[in-house]
Amino acid sequence: MKNTSNISKREFLRQCTLCAGGAALGMYNPSILSFNTELNKFSKEALFYSKTENGFLCEKCPHFCTLDDGDTGFCRSRVASNGKMYSIAYGNPCAVHIDPIEKKPFFHFLPSTNAFSIAAAGCNMRCLNCQNWQISQASPNESDNIELMPEEVVKACIKSGSESIAYTYSEPTTFFEYMLDTARLAHEQKIRNVIKSNGYINEKPLRLLCKVLDAANIDLKTYDDRIYRKISSGKLKPVLTALKVLRDEGVWLEITNLIIPSWTDNFDTIKKMCEWLCNNGMSETPLHFSRFTPLYKLSQLPPTPIVTLKKARKIAEDSGMKFVYIGNISGHDGENTYCPKCGKVLVERRIFTILGNYIIKGKCKYCGEKISGIWN
Ligand SMILES: [Zn+2]
Repeated sequence: MKNTSNISKREFLRQCTLCAGGAALGMYNPSILSFNTELNKFSKEALFYSKTENGFLCEKCPHFCTLDDGDTGFCRSRVASNGKMYSIAYGNPCAVHIDPIEKKPFFHFLPSTNAFSIAAAGCNMRCLNCQNWQISQASPNESDNIELMPEEVVKACIKSGSESIAYTYSEPTTFFEYMLDTARLAHEQKIRNVIKSNGYINEKPLRLLCKVLDAANIDLKTYDDRIYRKISSGKLKPVLTALKVLRDEGVWLEITNLIIPSWTDNFDTIKKMCEWLCNNGMSETPLHFSRFTPLYKLSQLPPTPIVTLKKARKIAEDSGMKFVYIGNISGHDGENTYCPKCGKVLVERRIFTILGNYIIKGKCKYCGEKISGIWN
């Protein structure tokens, strides 16, 4: 698909909406949006692409976009120009905040610390329920950005007293090169790196990232591939592969499953998902069932009933998952960590605040059971 003309922001956003609508109807085509692809100082030659007889093949994510000169990938952040492929999301974040690590959420990773959190615009999915669609469903050329090169991110992180840098809000694997360079510099300064991601990345780039990645919270949207495609325009299998790669590489992993009424609330599917996790060595991986609140293209749906979330947690625990949480409900005891052996409360949480922590050197204070996680 070739169209190198510039378009207005309004028209661009309308096209995005049409594209996402197409995905919802199962008409998804991993093809190309085109707009102003001028290179500038925020452009960096991309990793993981090759030249083929059909054009430039992006090998970073399972969409495998093929771009002609002047085209932009499905993620809106990779362009083909002047005989090369570039990332246009380098040093130009559209969001920079300091968050509690619990907000990502990470419940078994450096509790009570802050994460210096950044995002550049773009995403390689089209989730109907996206919380951050204003930045995820836009290109770095369209968002309001600040200039913050990798070394400046690390300096700002140190200055803020944060113990980690979180690549989050949009889809961090779409600003892969920026994230990788920043993460390498961060490790030199003993700062940890964490991602909140959809896990829609190919094995090779993921393994490279894992060398400097300390923790990942991956959205596993459903265990039903048909629903996966409709709700996100992604596929299930590559996400499962990414989970296994993260496990193999020793990256601390937590998983979020958003339960959306009528879309991802099928209990049989939830059971199959939990069984897969247990059968693949992830029974001690924290699983966060998250409550849906109506927004974006699913604003007509009700919030997830609390009884649904409780039942999902019961199913997960019965399947063998040891640390199952309920998120997005303030003050619910589903935010606490319980010892899988003696059943006592080990970490008491209210929203993003830790009220009590009874894990001593990675073990239950009461019975000595080892509690998986990175605790200090
Ligand atoms: Zn215990």
